Amino acid sequence: MLNRCLALGLLLSTFALAGECRAQQRPPNILFLFSDDLTCQAISAYGDKRQLLNTPNMDRIGHEGMRFDRCLVTNSICGPSRATILTGKYSHLNGFYNNSNSRFDSSQQTFPKLLQGAGYSTAVIGKWHLMSDPTGFDYWHILPGQGIYYNPPMNDQGKPVKHSGYTTDVITDLSLEWLKNRDKSKPFLLMSQHKAPHREWAPAVRHLGWDQDRQYPEPETLFDDYHGRSKAVSDHDMGLDRTFTDLDAKFRPSPNMTPEQLKAWNTYYEPRNEAFQKAKPTGKDLVRWRYNRYMHDYLACVKAVDENIGRMLDYLDSEGLAENTIVVCSSDQGFFLGEHGWFDKRWIFEESLRTPLLVRWPAVIKPGGVSSSIVSLVDFAETFLDVAGVPIPADMQGHSLLPLFKGQTPADWRKSLYYHYYEFPVPHRVRPHYGVITDRYKLIHYYKPDVDDWELLDRQADPLEVKNFYSDPAYAETVKELHAELDRLRKEVKETDAPPRAAYGNQSFEGEQLPGAKKD
Ligand code: CA
Repeated sequence: MLNRCLALGLLLSTFALAGECRAQQRPPNILFLFSDDLTCQAISAYGDKRQLLNTPNMDRIGHEGMRFDRCLVTNSICGPSRATILTGKYSHLNGFYNNSNSRFDSSQQTFPKLLQGAGYSTAVIGKWHLMSDPTGFDYWHILPGQGIYYNPPMNDQGKPVKHSGYTTDVITDLSLEWLKNRDKSKPFLLMSQHKAPHREWAPAVRHLGWDQDRQYPEPETLFDDYHGRSKAVSDHDMGLDRTFTDLDAKFRPSPNMTPEQLKAWNTYYEPRNEAFQKAKPTGKDLVRWRYNRYMHDYLACVKAVDENIGRMLDYLDSEGLAENTIVVCSSDQGFFLGEHGWFDKRWIFEESLRTPLLVRWPAVIKPGGVSSSIVSLVDFAETFLDVAGVPIPADMQGHSLLPLFKGQTPADWRKSLYYHYYEFPVPHRVRPHYGVITDRYKLIHYYKPDVDDWELLDRQADPLEVKNFYSDPAYAETVKELHAELDRLRKEVKETDAPPRAAYGNQSFEGEQLPGAKKD
């Protein structure tokens, strides 16, 4: 390739072609723009019918590149998704099961380490949330734990530092600073990872009242009664009707604001909170009030993320880096925006199972691509290594998306995915469950500690996922096939034994029961 490029370059004497050849020779830069709890319903590129928010910068990545409509997570919660991205392995192999007591074994193989070894300059800035310090990065500058929304304390490679401003802006400032001062002789991997829009969904001061007190269209399942469903589905602690705290409702301000920030905050929230106290809504009216408050706050957080993604894209443009930089915009899982009456994540249901994935790489991906193939966070490490030309270790469990980027989905691409969520009972009392997901169906087993229920969801017959078809005779053959597929997948991903007790967090269970037994 080098000789051909040089020969052609000399022959044609065009700077343009020489530039293109150089771009082909050098592995691409990787800009990973990651958010926490960012869901497809809040990104306009995904076309949610509620039209909740306009996100021009995220949309730009999708329009100029590729939108993945079915990027699924393997364990819908923060830390475990991050560990899966780094390792290309499921929770039971990378050892990070939950946010309660898991700690990332940072001595294990990760894709940043492999890229660093292959000559990349590597950095992670923002939310990390894996308990142990980052490894495999030339530079790291992270929030402690969950981090906070205003004036965040951070950890600059072991040194505590304090920053001023709104955390989403701060993380972008630090990311741009690193990009400007990076070792330009190497390709880069920058993981710029936002805390937003994680609970308690605290907006930037500039976005308070951004929606002009809009009354948001409600999801059809805002008042889901969970009829005919497992107790695991109805007995939760993540409902707008029961779980909304004063911090969620903004009856208390977000912590650590300056007097000026607090003044602006109170100017917006206080009169609206007073109106709430006067009206004293109850029942469905209370749920509706909370839903609208939640949407104002959550979407404002996403709006700030989108603006900051715009700043990053502008930088690539201004430096001439856009062509050979792969930009990946994604999240650690999806999130419920009132569907089933919920906020939060954890479930195998579509809103929290599916996570956004928008990828732009002009050198390889044609604009306007859309993929409906089942892809997953477990594919990210393999993909980053593949695009960099670094061999993919055999013990990684996902598949490179590079063929999909080129519009060449392999004929044997996966038709199903294995899922397992563990953390129970705190927070949110979502019972451990595992299952198999296909384009159309989900077979789910809720197995701990006081349930042993199977559910079959049929997204074609029931897109809202409110019905259980498991015992419907018309689905008997489908149930049988999905049980066989689930058994096959559990062997393939190597989770054939009961998880260790610590997988569920620090709680003990009564009625302990091993997962995996088919209910007859
Ligand atoms: Ca998360």
